[in-house]
This record gives sequence, structure tokens and C-alpha cells, in this order.
Amino acid sequence: MKTYIKSKQYLFRPIMVCMMIIISLGLNAQTVLKKEQFQPFPFGAIKPAGWIKEQMQKDMNGFVGHLDSLVPTLIYDPIYSEGRLQKHSKAKDLGNLKSGDAEGDEQYKWWNSETQSNWWDGYIRNAFLLNDTVAIAKVKKYVKYILQTQDADGYIGIYDSSLRYHFNAENGELWAKATLYRGLLAYYEVTNDTTVWNALLKAIDNVMTNYPVNASEPFKVGEGFNGGVAHGLTFTDVLDKMYQITPDKKYREYALFLYTNFSKNYSSEKDVQLYNILDTSYSIKYHGVHTYEHLRPLLIAAYSNGNKDLQKALNIYIARIKRATTITGGAIGDEWIGGRAADETNVGYEYCSLQELMDSYLLLLQKTGNAQFAEAAENIFFNAAQGSRDPEHSCIAYLKTDNSFEMMGTKNGEKEEGRNQTRYKYSPAHQDVAVCCNPNAGRITPYFIQSSWFKEGADTIVAAVLAPTVLNTTIKNTKLSIEEVTDYPYQNSFIFKIHTEKELVFTLKIKKPDWALSINTIEKYTIENGYIIIHRLFAENDKVTISFNTTVMVKETAHKEKYFQYGALIYAKQIAAKEISGKVYKNGFEDKMYAPLNYTHFQFIAGSKPVYKDGTIKVTLKNSITKQPEAGLLIPFGRTVLRQVTF
Ligand SMILES: [Zn+2]
Repeated sequence: MKTYIKSKQYLFRPIMVCMMIIISLGLNAQTVLKKEQFQPFPFGAIKPAGWIKEQMQKDMNGFVGHLDSLVPTLIYDPIYSEGRLQKHSKAKDLGNLKSGDAEGDEQYKWWNSETQSNWWDGYIRNAFLLNDTVAIAKVKKYVKYILQTQDADGYIGIYDSSLRYHFNAENGELWAKATLYRGLLAYYEVTNDTTVWNALLKAIDNVMTNYPVNASEPFKVGEGFNGGVAHGLTFTDVLDKMYQITPDKKYREYALFLYTNFSKNYSSEKDVQLYNILDTSYSIKYHGVHTYEHLRPLLIAAYSNGNKDLQKALNIYIARIKRATTITGGAIGDEWIGGRAADETNVGYEYCSLQELMDSYLLLLQKTGNAQFAEAAENIFFNAAQGSRDPEHSCIAYLKTDNSFEMMGTKNGEKEEGRNQTRYKYSPAHQDVAVCCNPNAGRITPYFIQSSWFKEGADTIVAAVLAPTVLNTTIKNTKLSIEEVTDYPYQNSFIFKIHTEKELVFTLKIKKPDWALSINTIEKYTIENGYIIIHRLFAENDKVTISFNTTVMVKETAHKEKYFQYGALIYAKQIAAKEISGKVYKNGFEDKMYAPLNYTHFQFIAGSKPVYKDGTIKVTLKNSITKQPEAGLLIPFGRTVLRQVTF
């Protein structure tokens, strides 16, 4: 999520123009709440099961559980306590190469707050979802420590009193809070610890007092690089969650104010600024992670204001992101979007951007109820994100392309002018670049699980994102547990095991996958807006069995290449590789690079008939060297390192 490269080629419009547009739109923080379709469950109500739980356990035994011992000076930097930043603080040495950096050292002052808080956020969630008692004890100690840093006025953050809330340049005030408070909110929801809740209330009030709503300029910080300030716009994540819990309109009003203020001030991250969205000739071009995480503040603003132009802006922004997204859900993030369209071979995506975009789609799903966002989130999680993990070792790729012909540091062997590119490899930390992707790789699975189920109205439970999970909730004052037993997406059959205190009438809504050709179930159902609706009396111990039929789908990319999909999974031809070890962080934790054992590519043969069998696809493809047809075996994209996925 960083190491910014030169971006000065982009010209900026005068601030006045955007202010005029904002005024003409009437975005004067008039809060008009738009109805949200689904209600989220509190963190902890949905637990992982099956293969996802196993993978989370592996991650906790691997880099997610051990990142603090791999980069201890970053994770245990006392930046929120005795090491708070003051006027004479120096940029920190993060142990990275700073290759290609052009944006100065200012970001390195706040950097460790993101690294540690994002890591803790993931760690807290994994610990509780796995009921890992040792990890939970560690989390409790951490939460106690961080609460002790709170000042009498409520401040929890990274600046001492001489600096806080008074900036005229790059800073991490809101961003350091957003990353930390997201984790604390999860902790509060799962423990109901009122000490944490009271601390959060005071800490958030402290922000709202010092940056008063509609009467301050949190985003007016000069015209230099200000990536940390722009990340701070995601403080709206905290505000949205506060609104969901309380539900106090002031949090929505404040989120709308932040988006409006961000839009009208200079930012080095301009894609989400309203005047750019409404400019029909504009294409997104800035730092990918920012652009995708900023979908959430825009969405929250659009649900806080009745203005039709904000809704229109939201739709335009979603369409622009779609154009930058590959077939597996990987949106351009290597690291600037640069006005480009997605390309399965030549454009990479960052692990951070996978988490941020997936999280944005899940929030869209909650607010709109639109099943297409569930599909988009599943695509990222099951394809691009699984495909950026090393299947054998506990490490992930910082950058990855869909067609991945080598992973030796550079993008498929391409030299980049003025930069020693090392992001295209697998690492448990990626400290030589930035420790941003690994903390986010610890967040992605808990966030995915968190939004797999929703409530709709008083008596409807929605399985929106399909995955092996267990939901525990109450409906009509009756305890209800639903266990979703499945190997999905590796198989397309499901048993929903339902347990209630007493027999109960309610509606179970299950997303109908868009690839499903037909449905097998003995249940009576209707289909509405992409959901299967089952409304009946459920016994104390009941079940719903359902499966979906599909076939191998031969699809086409924007570049007219073919690819193969079966169910939710994209399939790829694995390329045999030689594994090369790199930096050793500690025993069992090391960087891995992969060199291909051959350079044969394959081409699609028109009319060939792919056949699905037991998790593989058999298809005849043309060998690029011999020019002869050859029987090819494709496996799930997410289980590959080097691969060809478009033909
Ligand atoms: Zn990253």
C-alpha cells in the first residue's frame, strides 16, 4: 500500500472548479439517510468452517500469527504511546529499499501505525473466529495497553499535543485512527467489553470536537504529496460501523462531511473526488489501493445524502473500477492505475488492493442488497486472492498478474526503468518493499466471512456470499444457528443445517450464483433479484439441501482471449517451476521466488470441447512451440503459482 512512484504527469484542475460543482450539488452535509437493504451481523456472529477455517488456522500458524516476530520493530513501535510523533520526529527506517520512491520521507513517520494496526485488526479477528485462546489472551493484553494510551480528553492516536489536528502537510492523523479503531470495534462487538466501547466513544468524539462537522478542514493540508491524509478518508469505515451499532445519525453526517471536505480540497489521490467522477472524460489513474478503498466513503456518503448526483457518481465509479479489473477480480494496483484498462498479462495487482476492493464490494452488498456485489467479492476472494497465496508456503505475493510466467521479483521478467522491482515474489512480510500486503492478507479472510450472512428486516436471513460458515443469531427473540456445510467453491452443493430453540417461521434467502444453470432442491422456492427465497416453518433441527448445476464456460477477456470457468472458479494451466529461496526472516519464514521450467505457451482451439471432471478441466490446446494440439489439464487458478489462464 505504498512506495509511491512519480505521478507528476497528471495535471490538476483548480480547486475552485470542484468547489463550484460541490456547491451546485448542494452537498452541504444535509443528511438524508437512504434505506439500507441488509443489516450486518456483529463481528463474531459468523464463524468460519470447513476449508476456510483450516486455511485460517494455517495462516495463524504461519505469517499471520507470526508477523510481529518477523518485523518486531514495526509492529512494536510505540507510535501510539510514548513514541507519539512530535515536531522534531524523524522518518523511521522501515528496513525497506525505498526503490523508486519519489514522495519524500513524510509518510515514513506514520507508516508503522498502519502496519501494526492493520496487522492487529487481522490478528484480533482470526483469534476470535478460531477461538484461539492463546491468541485471545495476547489480544486482551494489547487492547488493555492501547486503551492506556488514551488521553483525558479522549485522544487515541499517534501525535503529541503540539501537532494533533493541526497540519498543513502530509500526516497520518485519521488513518492511524481508522486502522486502529476498526480492530477495536471488532473486539468490542465480539466481547461486549464496555471499557472498550466507552474509550471508542470518547476517542471518536475527540475527532469530531477537534475537526468540527462542516466547520473545519481536515483535508486542507497544502498541495504536496498527502497519501496518508487520503487514506484517512477511510475513517468513514469507523463512522459507518458506529452508525450500525448505535444507530446515531451524527456518524453518518460526519462521514458525509469527510467525503465532501475531501472532494473540495487538494489531494494527491484524486480518483474519488466528486468533480473527477462527474467528468465524463476522466479515467481513474492514481494509487490503486486508495482508489478502491475510497469506494466505501463514496458509498457511505451516497447513503447519507439524498442527492441523486452522489448516487450517479457511485455508479460511474463502480463502472470505472470494473474496467480496471481482470477476470479473476484483480484490479490494477502495480501501484498506479494510470488510466489503464485491466490486462491479464501486463498489469499487476497488489494484495492490499484485493482486500480493499473486496471490502468495498461487501459494503456495497450490505447497503444495496445487489447480488452482483456478492459475486464480485467471491471472485476476488476465491480467485485473485487465493491465486496470490503460495499454496505450499506461508507467504503471499505483493504483486501478481493473472497470467504468471515467472515470479522472480519483476512482472513476468519485464525491466522497469528507474526501479529495482522486487514485488513479484512470495514473502511472509515483504519488508524490502513495505509491510502492507501481509497485514492485509491477515484481514481478508475474516472480512470475507463477516459479510457472508446478513439480516433483512425482521425475519429474513440471507446467505449472500457462499462459503463454509456457521451463523449464530436470534430471530423473533429465538436463538438460531445455521451451519453452511460445503466445500464451495470446489464443489457446488450445500447443506444448511438449522438449529433453533423452537420451531420457527422465517425466510432463508440464498444467493443464486450467476453461473448456475439449474437448481436441485426439494424445497419450495421463488427467485427474486438473484436470490432463492425459502419461506416456511423450520423445525428445531432442520436442514435445507441445495446444489447448483453448471458446465464449463468458455469466456472471453476484453482482449479477446479465451478463459475457462466452472462454477465460481477460474481454471488455469499450471507451469512447472523451480523454487528459489530468498531472504530468511526466521526458521520456516522465507521469501520464495519461482522460475519457470519451460516457456511453452498454449493457444485456444476454436470448437474444442472442454470437459470438467473431479475439480479439473480437460481441454485440447495448441502448443506455441510445436504448433500441435495437446491435451491440457487445467486446475483451479487459486492453487497455482506460475500459470497461464487466458488462451
Ligand atoms: Zn500492499
